[in-house]
Amino acid sequence: MNLQKYKDNLMFLPLGGSGEIGMNVNLYHLDGKWIMIDLGAGFADKEQLPGIDMIAPNIEFVHTLGDNFLGLVLTHAHEDHLGALTYLWQQIKCPIYATPFTAEVLKAKLQEFPDAINKVKLKVLPFNSRFEVGPFSLEMIHLTHSIPEMQAIAVKTRHGTVMHTGDWKFDDKPLVGPASDYARLKQYGDEGVLAMVCDSTNVLSAGHSGSEGDLRESLTKLIGECKQLVAVTTFASNIARVETIARAAAANGRKVVMIGRSLWRITEAGREAGYLQDVPEFLSDQEARRFPRDKLLVICTGCQGEPLAATNKLANDLLPTLRLVPKDTIIFSSKIIPGNDKRIFALFNQLVKRGIEILTEKDHFVHVSGHPSRDELKKMYELVRPNIAVPVHGEAVHLHEHCKWAKTWGVPQTIEIANGDLVNLAPGKPEKLAVVPWGYLAVDGNYLLPTDSPVLKLRRRILNDGVLFCTVVLNVKGDLLTSPKIAAPGMLDDEDDRELLQVMEQEVAGVVELQNRAPNDAIVKQVRNALKRIAKTEIGKYPTIEVQVMRV
Ligand SMILES: [Zn+2]
Ligand SMILES: [Zn+2]
Repeated sequence: MNLQKYKDNLMFLPLGGSGEIGMNVNLYHLDGKWIMIDLGAGFADKEQLPGIDMIAPNIEFVHTLGDNFLGLVLTHAHEDHLGALTYLWQQIKCPIYATPFTAEVLKAKLQEFPDAINKVKLKVLPFNSRFEVGPFSLEMIHLTHSIPEMQAIAVKTRHGTVMHTGDWKFDDKPLVGPASDYARLKQYGDEGVLAMVCDSTNVLSAGHSGSEGDLRESLTKLIGECKQLVAVTTFASNIARVETIARAAAANGRKVVMIGRSLWRITEAGREAGYLQDVPEFLSDQEARRFPRDKLLVICTGCQGEPLAATNKLANDLLPTLRLVPKDTIIFSSKIIPGNDKRIFALFNQLVKRGIEILTEKDHFVHVSGHPSRDELKKMYELVRPNIAVPVHGEAVHLHEHCKWAKTWGVPQTIEIANGDLVNLAPGKPEKLAVVPWGYLAVDGNYLLPTDSPVLKLRRRILNDGVLFCTVVLNVKGDLLTSPKIAAPGMLDDEDDRELLQVMEQEVAGVVELQNRAPNDAIVKQVRNALKRIAKTEIGKYPTIEVQVMRV
C-alpha cells in the first residue's frame, strides 16, 4: 500500500477493539506522522487457543512506520487499553503519555522487567493537559468511568477535531474524581467537531448506566442486612467501587480485609496517585483473625470466576487463613461478562452447595456499568455534535446499532468499521481506503506467538485428537536393537491399554524389519502410516503421530 498517496489525509485506523470488546488499539495519521491511542490486551478464547490466557495485538504495521510513529497516549489504566504494554513495551520506542494514576498502574505492571523503567519513555501529565505531538494538537478531557482519571482525547488538526472518547459514562455522583467535563465537551461542540470515535459497549441498553453514588446506598443497606461474614468481589481496577465497599463496611461497623494480589497492587497505585486517602489501611487475611467474623468484610479478586483468584479459593475452601461457613454472604459487585458466564455460574453453584448466600447483579442492585447506556450516548452526541460518528469498542452488532442511533440523533455521517480498516476522515468524504495487516499474538508463557502459528494449530489438534509417540532404536546395520516403544499420554493408559500398545509395537516391528535398509525418513513415514491405520480402526481417532528413529 502506498501511504504516500494519503499524506495530506487525516486518517483513523483501529488495530484492535473494533469488532470486539477488548484489546483497544487506535491510530491517527496526518502528514505521514502517526499517533496511537491506547494499546490494550484481551482475554483469549480458550477453545481456540488452549493454554493461552491473554492476547496482545500484532502491531507489525506500526513497526513499518519507523520514526513516523510519534507517540502513544493512554486514555485510562484498564487492561483493554494499556495491558499489551506488559508484552510489547520493548517495541514502543516513542513517548507514552499518561496521567498520574494511569502511569502508576503502568509502572506497577512493568516492575517485573528491571530494564523497562529506563527504556520506557513515560511522560506523566496532569489531567486536562494540552500538548502537541507532531501535527496533532491534543487535549485530555476528564470523563467518568469505572477507574480514576479516564481522559477523552480531543485530537485537533488543520482538517478539524476528532473527539476520541475512550471508555466513559455520565455519572454525576462518581464518588472518586470529578464528574465528566460537560462544559468542555460542549465548547468543542460549539466550535465544531469533525468526527467522534466513541464507546459502543452498552449501546444495546436503554436508559442510564446508573451512578456509583446510588450504588453506595444500596450496598450499605444490603451489607447491613447480613448477620455473618460478608465478602464482596469486584474488578480490582475499580477504585471507586473499592472505596464504595470500604465505606459501606465502615457504615456497618466492619473492618475491611483485602485478598488478592491485583487488588493490593492497584489500591497501592491508587493511594500513590492520591486516591483512597480517607479509607483506613486494609487488613490482610492473617490480620483478620484477630476480629470477630461478623465484624469483617472481605474484598476479594476473582469476580469473573478466575481459577487462581481469591473468590474461587474461598468457594473451594482453599484459604487456610479465612474460611467461609454456611450463612456467610458473598456479593458479586460486577458484571457477568459473556464468555465468562460458564465458570462464574460454576462458582455460584459451588458457593450455594456450601450454604453460602450469594447476591449478584441478576437479583440485587450491586453493580453499575462503567460504559454509557443510550440516554448517556444521546447526551454525548448532543454536546459534541460531530459531523461523522465512528463507533468503536464493540462487536460488529454494537457498532452497527450505534451507527443507527447516531443517525437518529442527527449525526450526518456514520461509518461502520472493523480492525485494520484505514479510514479517511478529511478532506473528502469519510470512507475506508484500505485494509492494513492486523491480528493477535497469543501470550504463551514468556513467548508471543501469532494466533495462527503452527505451534498453536498443533496444540489444538493434540488437545482434541491426542498424540502418539513411537521410538524405534536400530543398530548400524538397521536391525531393531530392542522392541519399539509406544506411548500415547492422555489417550491410552500404559497399563489398562497394554494389549493394544503391544499390538501397535509388534506392527511397528514388522514394518521396520521390512524397511530396515531404508533411510530414516522412509521408515518414519511407513511407521506413521501403520500407526494411523491402527488408531483409526481400534480407537476411532486421528492422533498426531511422532516417530523417532535412532541408530546406535
Ligand atoms: Zn475502561
Ligand atoms: Zn475498554
